[in-house]
Amino acid sequence: MSRMEPPQQTSLAHETELMERRMLEEIKRRRDAGQDSWALEDFEIGCPLGRGKFGRVYLAREKITKYPVALKLLVKNELVKHEMEEQLTREIEIQSHLKHENILQLLTYFVDEKRVFLVLEYASKGELFRELNAQKHRRFEEPKCAKYIYQVASALQACHDCQVIHRDIKPENILISARGDIKIADFGWSVHNSSQTKRRKTICGTEHYLAPEMVKNMEHTHLVDNWCVGILCYELLVGRTPFESKSSPEAFRRICKAHIDFPPYIGTLARDLITKLLQVKPEDRLCLKEVMMHPFIVKHWPLKSVDDAPKPAK
Ligand code: AMP
Repeated sequence: MSRMEPPQQTSLAHETELMERRMLEEIKRRRDAGQDSWALEDFEIGCPLGRGKFGRVYLAREKITKYPVALKLLVKNELVKHEMEEQLTREIEIQSHLKHENILQLLTYFVDEKRVFLVLEYASKGELFRELNAQKHRRFEEPKCAKYIYQVASALQACHDCQVIHRDIKPENILISARGDIKIADFGWSVHNSSQTKRRKTICGTEHYLAPEMVKNMEHTHLVDNWCVGILCYELLVGRTPFESKSSPEAFRRICKAHIDFPPYIGTLARDLITKLLQVKPEDRLCLKEVMMHPFIVKHWPLKSVDDAPKPAK
């Protein structure tokens, strides 16, 4: 939701909201009736939206409610071949329980003999990565960056409140809704940080976004996500990540030192926010609530009223 200009309740937005409500009711109705078994026949299939590692994503419309969704199709054989079954199960389990307006909703899922179908909220403006690439010099102005970082921090705070660590925040895993709001997607690397496994060691994520503790193969906590918010903020303002190097060992050395070179056009407030997130010691990093209240965010993305603050999704 826009915080500076509350959206007009256009008839289109109203229609979409109604459709969404009907769709959620339909999902609930089927679950309550014990017939949670959706099938491909329940959807009209539209154009392809993209292609991932293990399958394709199509725009689709649920036939009864006409609600538009993104239907992600995964081939079982491919999942088995790459030993991804456990990861997918975890992803479904985690994503279907997280409800926040900046987290892409997994509405439901179903399987047939050969495929798994994920029914996802449709984010019509596609990947943040694509939007960033389309910018002049591949970078956003500060107000847009501030809005996106606020929404990412808010979504991650909701994950952490549910003991979930995302572990793979980057522009490719963030989608944009029709209203231009962030939708964090791709929970493939996420993990539930249960009390027995408070500290974890798996190295995961994308090289340029790896936190020092992961590079050093040390235990990590939810604070790896805070590091990623710092890298993301830098990338959105500069057009590249801060520790890019000719080789991986060189990049890893730079990550572990966390020495950041800022181009001259990056303002003092942005520098302060990024520096306070990109701290080698996890416990020194700014917490997400502090990110949302940081002067860089407040200057460019001021809260108008508590009504504009992100709410949990319905
Ligand atoms: P994935 O397999 O999740 O990496 O998705 C492949 C591509 O499909 C992405 O890069 C997006 O462009 C597109 N896509 C995936 N999910 C959605 C969605 N919920 N809404 C719109 N486009 C999507």
